[in-house]
Formats: sequence, structure tokens, C-alpha cells
Amino acid sequence: MKIRGAWRLQKALAQLNQRGIILMYHRVLDLDFDPRQLCVSPKNFEAHMKVIKKYGRPVRVKDMGENLKQRSLGCKEVAITFDDGYEDNFLNAWPILERYNIPATFFISTGTIQSRKEFWWNDLERAILAPQALSEIFKAEIRGTKYSWNILKEGPCRKINYSQTPQGVPENSATLTRGQFYSVILRILSGLNKLAREEALQKIVAWSGQSLALRLDSIAMTAEQVVTLSKSRLFEIGAHTIDHPMLSCLPPEEQEEEILNNKRDLESMTGSQITSFSYPHGDYNDDIIKLVSRLGFKNACTVDEVSVTRGMNPLLLPRFMVMNWTGEQFESKLKQWLRGDI
Ligand SMILES: [Zn+2]
Repeated sequence: MKIRGAWRLQKALAQLNQRGIILMYHRVLDLDFDPRQLCVSPKNFEAHMKVIKKYGRPVRVKDMGENLKQRSLGCKEVAITFDDGYEDNFLNAWPILERYNIPATFFISTGTIQSRKEFWWNDLERAILAPQALSEIFKAEIRGTKYSWNILKEGPCRKINYSQTPQGVPENSATLTRGQFYSVILRILSGLNKLAREEALQKIVAWSGQSLALRLDSIAMTAEQVVTLSKSRLFEIGAHTIDHPMLSCLPPEEQEEEILNNKRDLESMTGSQITSFSYPHGDYNDDIIKLVSRLGFKNACTVDEVSVTRGMNPLLLPRFMVMNWTGEQFESKLKQWLRGDI
């Protein structure tokens, strides 16, 4: 009896500990200028994959979602995700994932796919964060609101300090660092529809005085590349809206257009049903979750940094952002996350 009781306790504890984690990557590339810290070098990415093979059981988001539904979330399941659809995912991450036989989910914003252009937030980054010098006064009218801020005189911003990001929109005549200015403008532009955003972006680029030459290492994937990824048994293609807006700032009909058209584009490209979604900017509310469910998604990822545990809503799957860490640094993070110790 005693032994049986101990075994039951052990089993209950093991079940309590059953947890998976989802990792969020954006880019796999050596890039000198990366103030948002979205790039992981191919060397470090390969080291991360070795660590995952050692400690985890890699799955796709849709498999993790299905396991959650079946109440069979396996111990140490690790889902690797990529947001946005940068070409470097295809060129640099794919060969490494194939080499280590590691599944992954690619969430693609289709508005820039096939255009051979950079994503709009890259242009904003280059206009605001990269220049040696910027005018110290920013004045612009964006969708009927007049903004006027002083911009701190400083050189290029090489690393945004997110802990300094203002909560809302600062009052006119406030003084902002480059990083603060970028974060505020990104938030304002993310809440606009495509037309209004393009118009505002043009004004900001003109104000910065920069002529933005296309960086070929920073463009979006082509449709053919997305199709090639989708044909691999290892990979899942997921949706990430057309133009990557802050969904909660758009009226319901525009939210639906952004999500549904993206899903349809990806389904017609790949010939497969798209059932996983990632909320752009990690922005969601109850109505958006309902909409995502109504449009046929089974799983959706946030950017809330905790582990996935049994009983979680598959439309609110949390993820950990991965940075350009060495293998050792990543190993210590992964072990911590798998223990649920964050
Ligand atoms: Zn994104």
C-alpha cells in the first residue's frame, strides 16, 4: 500500500510538471544594426537547436495545440516559432532545422510577401534609429492628430531600452530619446489601416531626411519560398495578418479583413488549411480571440512569457522571446523555462 501510494504521488507530481514551452524567433542572420534585438546569428541558432535536442521534444504549434486538446501535453515539448516571414528564415534557419530534424511553425504576414521589399517597421527603424543626426523637433499630423515632440540629440540608437518605453502617447512638447520616439511612433502606426500608415510613414521618412536603400538581407520571403517550407513534413505555416497592425485599434470589420485575407492567401499558396495564428505585437482582447476562433483557427500565440501547461486555452499560447544568446546562455534559459522557474 505504501509503495502504491508513493507511486501515485510521484505520478501526480509528474503530471503537475508536464509543461511545454514555445519559443519565439524573428530572424536568423548576422546583422550589424539590430536595435530591436530580433536577430539570432546562424551560429547561435544552431547552438540553440543542439540544446533543444538535448533537453526537449520539438513539436509544431498545431501538434502542441492538439496535445493540449487531447489532454496529452507531453513533458518538455518545445515548439519553435518564427514571426513575420523574413527571407532569412528560409535561407538560414531552414537548413539548420532540416539538419537537426527539428519541426517549426512560421507565422507569415502576407502583405509584404513577394514584394521584395522590407517590412514597413524596418523602414521606420531605419528612418528613426539609424541616422547619425536627426532634427531635434518632430512635428506631424497623423490621421487628424497633431504631434510635436523634442527628440534628444544623440547618435544612432543601437539597442532600444524597452524599460524606458512610455505607457501611452506622450504629451506634445515632451522630450523623447530615439528609442522612445520609435516605440511611440510604432504604436501609433500599428493602429492605422494600411493607407493611413503608408501616408504617415512617408511623412516620417521625409522628415528624417533619409533615403532608404533596400537592404537585400532584410526582405520578406517570396511566395515560392513559403510554399517550399510548407511542403516539408517538419514545418507548419501559420497566419500573422496581412499588414501586422495592432488589431485592437482597428474596427471589427478591418480586424476580420486583416486575419481572413491573410489566412486565405496562405491557404491558396500552400493548398493546406491554416489553423495556427500569432497575434501581431502580442495584441489581443476577448473579441479578437472570439474572431480568431470563428475564422477557424485552433491555436494562437501571444508574447506572454510563461510555459504552456495543461488546461491552457489553445488560443492563448504563451511564448518566450529568444535573443542572440550563445549555446550556454540559451541552455540555462531553456532549463529554467522547462522547470517553470521564471
Ligand atoms: Zn510580428
